[in-house]
Amino acid sequence: MSYFLSDKPLQTEEIIELTGDEARHILLSRRMEVGEIIEIQGPDQKRFNAEVVLVDRKSLSIQALEEIPTPKESPLSITIFQALIKEQPLDFIIQKSTELGVDKLFLFNSENSIERFKEIEKKLDRWRKIGEEAAKQSGRVRAVSIEYIDDPKDIYKLASELDHIFLLEPLTKDRFSTWELSSQVNKIGILVGPEGGFTEEEVVEFSKIKNVIPISMGPRILRADTAAITSSAIVQALWGDV
Ligand code: SAH
Repeated sequence: MSYFLSDKPLQTEEIIELTGDEARHILLSRRMEVGEIIEIQGPDQKRFNAEVVLVDRKSLSIQALEEIPTPKESPLSITIFQALIKEQPLDFIIQKSTELGVDKLFLFNSENSIERFKEIEKKLDRWRKIGEEAAKQSGRVRAVSIEYIDDPKDIYKLASELDHIFLLEPLTKDRFSTWELSSQVNKIGILVGPEGGFTEEEVVEFSKIKNVIPISMGPRILRADTAAITSSAIVQALWGDV
């Protein structure tokens, strides 16, 4: 079930006042009335059933009733490395990857990335907010974490911490289903190109990553966002908890 966020940790029976953006959000999204029960999660990721005890114009007070369990995170940690693409499909990737239980999203500039985002910090704030909303909607305890990689070479370093990294390339012959991964595999990466695809040089460079596995998802060219989301669903279904 969807939940709301409190910036203060909650404790059974404690009454807290919610103000600011989240209070506004709660008041706008539902016609809240005293006595109503909502799910609310604190910064410590503990979630409670809480009763609305006071409703004001811009704030509301709730009383935490009992702590409730949160859905388990997938045993498979999925990291998407996404070449920068237009904002709208990127927003979509953030939303859907959060719903699908993706662990991390790293964004980087590739040769064919047409977007050159200025003020990346501001963008990151916005993207993280989108992730947070998706987590709240889906009941997942947290959003996909989002970082920007300034130097694509950092991908090598990050990839070395993973068991495998799948390089998504339409022209490759291997498919995800070709791979029988050992049951010890629990950290995988997925490398997704921009709308214009990776250049030949980039494919050569990325193919040098020690634990890389080039993969195709069939003879049709998918949009970058479709590729990122579909591959996440596939690996989650093959080796995760979907
Ligand atoms: N114009 C590019 C396609 C880019 S699609 C071209 O013709 O190659 C954007 C990215 O999505 C690609 O770089 C790749 O990483 C991924 N992708 C799209 N379709 C795919 C497929 N069928 N299999 C594997 N990856 C795919």
